[in-house]
Amino acid sequence: MNLAPHAGSCPVCENGLLRFQQCENCYAVSLICDECESSWSDVVAISNNLSTPPDGSYPYCVRCQANSNWIYLNPLGIEQAGLTPFIRGESR
Ligand SMILES: [Zn+2]
Ligand SMILES: [Zn+2]
Repeated sequence: MNLAPHAGSCPVCENGLLRFQQCENCYAVSLICDECESSWSDVVAISNNLSTPPDGSYPYCVRCQANSNWIYLNPLGIEQAGLTPFIRGESR
């Protein structure tokens, strides 16, 4: 498995990592915890302030208001979304 970028530790469960994932319906990018499935539709807000509460939960997409399939973004996809500055590290 390739290393996947993350945006730091999840402030809700403190075990998971926040992953850059893209909604297959509306192409919006959210950060989703890979442990507790909390999600944040505003990547900038949660990255700048870890006390920002989650506004959703996987697999529900707040933007298109549907349960969706989510795609893990690779570094290129994150760059295309303009979110490279919010990558904090990479792990499996
Ligand atoms: Zn979590
Ligand atoms: Zn969506």
